[in-house]
Amino acid sequence: MTADPLHILKTVYGYDAFRGRQADIIRHVMAGNNAFVLMPTGGGKSLCYQIPALARNGMGLIVSPLIALMVDQVAALRQAGVRAEALNSDLSPEERRALWRDMRAGKVDILYAAPETLLKPDVLDALQSIDLSLIAIDEAHCLSQWGHDFRPPYRQLDTLIERFPDTPRMALTATADEPTRAEILGHLGIEEHDAFIAGFDRPNIRYAIMEKDNPRAQLKRFLKDRDGESGIVYCLSKRKVDETAAWLREEGRDALPYHAGMDKAAREENQTRFQHGEAVIIVATVAFGMGIDKPDVRFVVHVDLPGSIEAYYQETGRAGRDGLPSDVLMLYGYEDIALRNRFIEESDAADQRKYMERQKLDALLGLAETASCRRQVLLSYFGDRCEPCGNCDTCAEPPDLFDGAIAAQKLLSCIYRTGERFGQAYVIRVLLGVEDERISRFGHDRITTYGIGKEHDNRMWRAILRQLVALRMIEVDLSGHGGLSISEDGRRFLREKPALMLRIPSAPRSARQQTPRN
Ligand code: ADP
Ligand code: ZN
Repeated sequence: MTADPLHILKTVYGYDAFRGRQADIIRHVMAGNNAFVLMPTGGGKSLCYQIPALARNGMGLIVSPLIALMVDQVAALRQAGVRAEALNSDLSPEERRALWRDMRAGKVDILYAAPETLLKPDVLDALQSIDLSLIAIDEAHCLSQWGHDFRPPYRQLDTLIERFPDTPRMALTATADEPTRAEILGHLGIEEHDAFIAGFDRPNIRYAIMEKDNPRAQLKRFLKDRDGESGIVYCLSKRKVDETAAWLREEGRDALPYHAGMDKAAREENQTRFQHGEAVIIVATVAFGMGIDKPDVRFVVHVDLPGSIEAYYQETGRAGRDGLPSDVLMLYGYEDIALRNRFIEESDAADQRKYMERQKLDALLGLAETASCRRQVLLSYFGDRCEPCGNCDTCAEPPDLFDGAIAAQKLLSCIYRTGERFGQAYVIRVLLGVEDERISRFGHDRITTYGIGKEHDNRMWRAILRQLVALRMIEVDLSGHGGLSISEDGRRFLREKPALMLRIPSAPRSARQQTPRN
């Protein structure tokens, strides 16, 4: 077999050209370098290790977490005439002996194995006598202790690396935020300059993020001219899924619910109807999405804050697989933020885990509140880059910022002076100096903060409040009636009075105008 990657691409895989950064990555590894490859699912990671494995002398060793995945890959490679094998516990002793014989005789091009198998002392020893072209660790995020797919045996792969210090090693994954990425590189001894990050942009998706104002009205506006289109509406709770789907049906839409609380048959029926239907809207919790392969999903709406930027990227990524223009909309409100903060605080996770979770939430809120191009912020989270895209709401209409220090001081003082137990509506009414029987009953029409906020309207104060919740200066009591209190950070802000720029809420206008279609 010739060692020319392009020739291999054509003859073995039947493709004409490399995609994205595949050629760069393959060249880099062929030259004997290590590589870290971060590409979205479907980006074409497999070729990045398979082709160097075929082109270089020796056997390529691929670490993969799931037997089912390995079996598929091996079958596909064999079909293409590649001598691929999987070393796993399903092999009989004879098969196993024969496989090792073949490996030693140089008759295997690519070997797949799970870390549990590879790390057995006898396997490690036996590998020592085999000429390896490279070691590729697929789904490398599984070694991150803070990731959601942590697999302890992945953590011990450094032993494997130590045994083969001169063999080029690759780590590949589709999901890795900055800390996970650093952890993978550090653990496997791969340098920053060996990292290839690309392919995250989905240019046909138009991003829009709005404050949650009146979610039903906002959803209705968004759907107004989308009669013949299929889409997904994500909600946080099962109850909200049911209610929203029922409401959309009353509005004359073909909307179906999907969540883990439904019985399996009904759920699957809805999924099938969505998959094959023309203008079906599926209203779902995050339980929906795995294995969905509908090319013409025209829109994805998050009625509640998604779980993280990664989750947002995955979920919005279900739109527009056919490459045609598609719209995604996310709504977020201060209650979503407070709820998420509370989940984190009250979980019994270790402090470091909580710290990571807080960082992830911050990153998501940063995307929601950004005054820059959404796509730039989104891609930079994955370490990828782009120019201001012209195809998101902030590009179309850059939001305004204002010096919010005084407003924040007023709001915090008002919460303080009213005793840190009233909710947003009440506190804002005090700031606005509204004549109100309840306010006078509590004597709050006689405190210094009564009526000191008349320079802003109710809507503006809500936006300021939401941003201070996001900045964790204000806490919301979610168990009671949404009583607001001042956090440690809020107290420090009141003491030190630092500068603070805030975003001016976009004027209410139709979501339709915000997302023109061509
Ligand atoms: P990943 O592992 O990144 O999720 P895969 O390696 O499974 O992605 O590739 C996704 C699909 O794209 C596969 O069907 C693969 O054959 C195809 N593919 C990969 N590279 C190319 C290419 N250069 N040209 C055409 N198709 C490609
Ligand atoms: Zn943009």
